[in-house]
Amino acid sequence: MKTALITGITGQDGSYLAEFLLSRGYRVVGLRRRTSTDNCWRIAHLLDQVELVDCDITDQAGVIRTVEKTEPDEIYNLAAQSFVPTSFHEPFATGTVTGLSVVNLLEAVRILNPGIRFYQASSSEMFGAVRESPQRETTPFHPRSPYGVAKLYGHWITVNYRESYGIHACSGILFNHESPRRGPEFVTRKVSIAAARIKLGLQAKVPIGNLKASRDWGFAGDYVRAMWLMLQQEDPRDFVVATGESHTIEELLETAFSFLGLDWRSHVVQDPRFFRPSEVDFLLGDATKAREKLGWEPTVTFEELVRMMVRADLKDQAEKAGIPVNQSLTLPELVP
Ligand code: NDP
Ligand code: GDP
Repeated sequence: MKTALITGITGQDGSYLAEFLLSRGYRVVGLRRRTSTDNCWRIAHLLDQVELVDCDITDQAGVIRTVEKTEPDEIYNLAAQSFVPTSFHEPFATGTVTGLSVVNLLEAVRILNPGIRFYQASSSEMFGAVRESPQRETTPFHPRSPYGVAKLYGHWITVNYRESYGIHACSGILFNHESPRRGPEFVTRKVSIAAARIKLGLQAKVPIGNLKASRDWGFAGDYVRAMWLMLQQEDPRDFVVATGESHTIEELLETAFSFLGLDWRSHVVQDPRFFRPSEVDFLLGDATKAREKLGWEPTVTFEELVRMMVRADLKDQAEKAGIPVNQSLTLPELVP
């Protein structure tokens, strides 16, 4: 039985990856930091199957002790301060957690067991002001936020430890991926929650920032499979993981609201608070290398993803408000 250590197990990807690895017979250990309130809602259904170790990835000694104690075969470093707007308000903290701390894990691997395979969660935000479209593994980087800059450090230090010490270290350059477990502050989830609440009569308007920005959005459940595939290759390499389709925020709004028979233009108010000091206008990934070398394909389309999220939030919001979904909504596809 292989052991996987997942940092960021309480996050969106951590929860899907834990499910995926458990289904493949792994012993799964999750590194999580202590928080004052419970943050395990995404893995509540897995708590009797995974082991949790309290550790903050900024704490080098703690990281080394965790790796020593758990003896993993594979480490997936998903922990990060992952929200771009927060990175503008907390650039130093973001640099420390999202960037510099990656080396704590790589040092633990180098010192304790260079045979451990290592995955780093890199991001399409590193492409930022894109130099070419679509973006691929060879596209130059130009990050546009402290988050993107921090991810660039994590990316290059992973490449550097592979080249310097022969560690099986891979960096997955993942484009945006979403799910019903996405943090509610990200635009897809913000929109799916708002559409559901407006349909249920729980709110009337939703404030949104830049409507013209465009993202290559996939389903998180598909993307964690790519992470695992990278660590199963003989040769450690970096891969772009993306759908190859880009949609604007307007298209996201149209898809989500029209699914519920709503006109988004009647409900969206543009709010300058949600604009960023510098924006990533357009992202579109080319995952040809992942398709050819990993045999990886996305299985969920943009429309299916948005509908999945809206459906889940409709049910969730209705339950929270005590509204019976089946009676109040006539769309048959909304009834689970
Ligand atoms: P989330 O924000 O949902 O999860 C981040 C995780 O990191 C949480 O479990 C969080 O714990 C943990 N974490 C934060 N700070 C620390 C710390 N100091 N010590 C230990 N753990 C910490 O992100 P996602 O699941 O969406 O993304 C996973 C990774 O992939 C992240 O690195 C993200 O930047 C990257 N990525 C994500 C993309 C996406 O579209 N989702 C695209 C490209 C890259 P807690 O619950 O305590 O906050
Ligand atoms: P990101 O790509 O990692 O920054 O993911 P987000 O979901 O936070 O943002 C995606 C895009 O949506 C960015 O270009 C944002 O500027 C844009 N956007 C427009 N309005 C909003 C909003 O209200 N909230 C968020 N989070 N993003 C918004």
